[in-house]
Amino acid sequence: MKILPMICLLSLPIAGLASPPTTRSFGHLPDGQAVHEYTLSNKNGLAVTVMDYGATVVNLVVPDSHGKLVDVALGFDTLEGYLSAKNPYFGCIVGRYANRIADGKFTLDGKVYQLPVNDGPNQLHGGPKGFDKRLWHGEILAGQNAVRFTRRSPDGEEGYPGNLDVSVTYSLNDANALRIDYLATTDKPTVLNLTNHTYYNLAGAGTGTILDHVLQLNASKYTPVNATLIPTGQMATVSGTPFDFREPTAMGDRIKQTGGKPVGYDHNFVLSKSPFIGRALAADALDPKTGRWLKVYTTQPGVQFYSGNFLDASFAGKGGKTYPQYSGFCLETQHFPDSPNHPNFPSTVLRPGETFKSSTVYVFGAD
Ligand code: BGC
Repeated sequence: MKILPMICLLSLPIAGLASPPTTRSFGHLPDGQAVHEYTLSNKNGLAVTVMDYGATVVNLVVPDSHGKLVDVALGFDTLEGYLSAKNPYFGCIVGRYANRIADGKFTLDGKVYQLPVNDGPNQLHGGPKGFDKRLWHGEILAGQNAVRFTRRSPDGEEGYPGNLDVSVTYSLNDANALRIDYLATTDKPTVLNLTNHTYYNLAGAGTGTILDHVLQLNASKYTPVNATLIPTGQMATVSGTPFDFREPTAMGDRIKQTGGKPVGYDHNFVLSKSPFIGRALAADALDPKTGRWLKVYTTQPGVQFYSGNFLDASFAGKGGKTYPQYSGFCLETQHFPDSPNHPNFPSTVLRPGETFKSSTVYVFGAD
């Protein structure tokens, strides 16, 4: 696996701003509030469009080695699609707690918090109205190829304690690195797990399954789950399991062996630290048909590899195309699921006076 030190990716200059960010209307919410989208592009034609509803990646147009541009992000053509109950978290920022919390319950400083549940017995992705279903405040950052989204999640929102001030900044450079920086502060102790939920198909959204995409993960351990996808608490070796992606392996090769209902990858991988680059490299995905690849670098301790198991072609996405099972994959850089109930997992507690910071960089290319 070719490894670029994260520090280089983060410090690459935004050269000249040949095409400064643009913004336009993306419709209105049912209560009349205006939704805007923002487009960042670079000299290679790579363009990412993000809207302020859910701070959501709407389009991600990426060149192949011949400069052919395709949109690799699953999604919808209109705001109505994103607002529909069928939307499986396409492209959005998930919070206050990405992934699951068992029984929607945790104890912090001796106090029990009961959150609303929305995934069988558990809470998923911050509850029925998580950060993905909120209108954020968007602003283009002066002189930068970047857009920042901010919001205050009020004390008690979806059951979580503390006013949480969050910002999520998307920036793009000419080395095809799309970076997301997360910052948060709170006025009461709380728990926090933020990620981006883009579904990728490197051959183009709506062109079939991702089962032949080749994946490499920088993880020698994963967190096994129970029948409702709650970690058992174990950090198990991937060796000898279908979760061993230490060498490049097609996503579909061993997918039937993963178990689960529906069958597929929906697991958190424990990212390995390297003496040279810290915990930066998380994943490397390649579509052999087009040569397009994606490398993910992060400061987070885990990544959820989700193979689109719940997609079922039951709604129309971009261009009227449907998205069958396994037609997109997510690489959700994150803290581990259900961490508030597992003291052996890295802590997700944020206290007043502390600042939560995390960065993930997605680098696109084509061989
Ligand atoms: C979860 C899946 C869930 C999906 C929602 C993923 O992050 O791990 O279990 O179905 O999000 O689209």
